[in-house]
Amino acid sequence: MKTFTNILPLRNELKDARFSAAREGKSLRIALVPTMGYLHEGHASLLRKARAENDLVVLSIFVNPIQFGPNEDFERYPRDPEKDLALAEREGVDFVFMPSVEEMYPQPTRTHIKVEGLTDVLCGASRPGHFDGVTTVVGKLLHIVQPDRAYFGQKDAQQVAVIAQMVLDLNFDVEMIPCPIVREADGLALSSRNVYLSAEERQAALVLSRNLLAAQAKANTTESRVTAGELLTELRDAIGAEPLAVIDYVEIADFPGLSPLAADERLDAAGRRSDVLIAVAVKFGSTRLIDNVILTKKVND
Ligand code: AMP
Repeated sequence: MKTFTNILPLRNELKDARFSAAREGKSLRIALVPTMGYLHEGHASLLRKARAENDLVVLSIFVNPIQFGPNEDFERYPRDPEKDLALAEREGVDFVFMPSVEEMYPQPTRTHIKVEGLTDVLCGASRPGHFDGVTTVVGKLLHIVQPDRAYFGQKDAQQVAVIAQMVLDLNFDVEMIPCPIVREADGLALSSRNVYLSAEERQAALVLSRNLLAAQAKANTTESRVTAGELLTELRDAIGAEPLAVIDYVEIADFPGLSPLAADERLDAAGRRSDVLIAVAVKFGSTRLIDNVILTKKVND
């Protein structure tokens, strides 16, 4: 495994690897897994899939300042490069790219990628500018690495929708691979931010996965004939009943279009007209957690 902190040596190594493969008449499938580090099993699942499906796996670790708002946790975002490198090594990563802020932004960037519409709702509504920071840095990483495939977790479902739109609109030559959410045994979605939670907050946070998974199970039965409005009320009430939970949003939208569904729209397996995202953002103390489930149009139940 090789570690790079600068763009040029990484690009040169990637060029050499492509050139050597081509000289032998082989193609070289390159995967990129972009992360902000403090790696956990969720990240590991992306790396494993990338390893299984490609010849060369690039992991990027970069806490991207321009996707954090002025009052957000950029400074205190957890970091542990040594542990990250050990996990990367264990998962068979070939190249780790861990640039400094100065390397990625030698001067304040005047160019931003903005995906309209999809970024004004859900997390975009409470975190103005967040997705512009995400698409700008992912765009830069895709240009630097030029991977054949890039791996993203459905944990950040809106991010998946936004980046897929960017890839389509700007003709990035990359295949986006969305990967399922990895959860703790008790249901809590893995997140680097879970370390901020006190024991009581961590216990209270189970209200999210418990109710999202129950909503998904209910909607996935044909006989429930449940509507978006009913499910939304049930979810808001259940999460709101947890004293430590402060709701940012609980929403039901079509996926990946992210438009809200009408209250009378049926969500049951036989009635729904598209894939549907049920997404929540809830604060426990100072920690904002997100979680979601996706109801797919085609269900075998
Ligand atoms: P982050 O380091 O939080 O920016 O996440 C890097 C990538 O890992 C993103 O594509 C996330 O969606 C993905 N990821 C984070 N947590 C999970 C999880 N629990 N399950 C699956 N993917 C995840």
